[in-house]
Amino acid sequence: MLTTRPRGTNDILPNEIHIWHFLEETIRRICAEYGYKEIRTPIFEHTELFIRGVGDTTDIVEKEMYSFLDQSNRQLTLRPEGTAPTVRAFLENNLQNQLLPGKVYYFGPMFRYGRPQAGRYRQFHQFGVEAFGSNDPALDAEIIILAMDFYHRLGLKNLTLLLNSVGCPECRKKHRQLLQAYLQPVLNELCDTCQGRYKKNPLRIFDCKNISCQRLVLNGPTIADNLCESCSEHFKQVQIFLREANITFQLDPYLVRGLDYYTHTAFEILVEGIGAQNAIGGGGRYNGLVEELGGKPLPGIGFGLGLERILLALQEQEVDLQVKEKPHLFIATMNLEGKLKGFKLQAELRKAGFKVEMDYLDRSIKAQLKYAGKQGYQFVAILGEREIASESAALKVMDTGEQINISLVNLIPYLEGILKFKGTGFQGGLENDRNDKGIY
Ligand code: AMP
Repeated sequence: MLTTRPRGTNDILPNEIHIWHFLEETIRRICAEYGYKEIRTPIFEHTELFIRGVGDTTDIVEKEMYSFLDQSNRQLTLRPEGTAPTVRAFLENNLQNQLLPGKVYYFGPMFRYGRPQAGRYRQFHQFGVEAFGSNDPALDAEIIILAMDFYHRLGLKNLTLLLNSVGCPECRKKHRQLLQAYLQPVLNELCDTCQGRYKKNPLRIFDCKNISCQRLVLNGPTIADNLCESCSEHFKQVQIFLREANITFQLDPYLVRGLDYYTHTAFEILVEGIGAQNAIGGGGRYNGLVEELGGKPLPGIGFGLGLERILLALQEQEVDLQVKEKPHLFIATMNLEGKLKGFKLQAELRKAGFKVEMDYLDRSIKAQLKYAGKQGYQFVAILGEREIASESAALKVMDTGEQINISLVNLIPYLEGILKFKGTGFQGGLENDRNDKGIY
């Protein structure tokens, strides 16, 4: 137990963290370009927020929440999604009275008690955006374009964008009656959960994971066929804007998404090759949610993308993100005097912005070079007896094995010169100070 993580969770290890940093940087950059600012909300919220916000007939609320009582008997829940908390924060901080549209994004862990499998975890990470205060179909299109642009920048291919409209409460009322009438003769064949949904919210039966329920609703009336005039017009315009941006999509009248708050546009992005859990993102409009959570009516739209699934897809498609940045210099020492000098040198180099380490295990020079190689260091500065005596270092280029002697006072300007930009790789051969070829 002590050395086993809870089921459905993952460790992100030091040798893979650079990929997560790259994802985060890409998220920050793309959101800045589209005008979305980050919002950070608590990891847990009052349970009621999700019951009201996500919907009490959804799988998330019925089966998947991590809820608990705190020491003061407050009913709390680890957030299963990011939209309801964002709306709560928006209202609590009066952001609806500030500049509109309010455009925000978030990135962080979500928690759902599902059956773990490849691509489905109990703790996973989502990147999400939300925009409040505009009902413009062009904004629906912008949100979808942002998601597709994000995948594109990561180099993901073989994506399918599914698009539907789930209408407004008016169209839903009509559709609900039609669907109930359609399912009435087969009511007993629905699973227990869907029998409950039949009365309360039959639309949810469309996203039941039970195959027999899926079959029973398959040829039933769809909401897309029963949109009111204004919802139908909105949906048409979203499609026009998407076509204008050359975004390919497939209409899917059965796409209802697993959360109750969606109205109008609903979308989901699937990727090939990662198994059954192939939805790498989804979202839609939720024009009733702000009011549902106690605010004045305010339209909203957003998406949530699953980062673990995106990483699985990148792996499956063998996309090389080329993001591993090589650290600059390892300082190898042989004795206490060298260590003292190296320690001082290390501090100076770090102050100048270099990524530097030295040996703290009293290893042999050979073992230190091996360590530096494994860690991806571009250079090793060796401070042996001869170098200490001459206030210099033997500088070794790890890629080529080339080695020169360089005086310590020249080391920083020299490295600055050949590394060209800080943070980028070494781009050329050693050119000067070539006066000693001490080999270790
Ligand atoms: P949702 O909030 O259900 O619309 O989910 C949005 C996206 O989050 C999905 O398309 C998945 O990519 C991802 N996702 C949802 N649930 C999980 C999970 N249990 N494990 C991993 N990713 C998930």
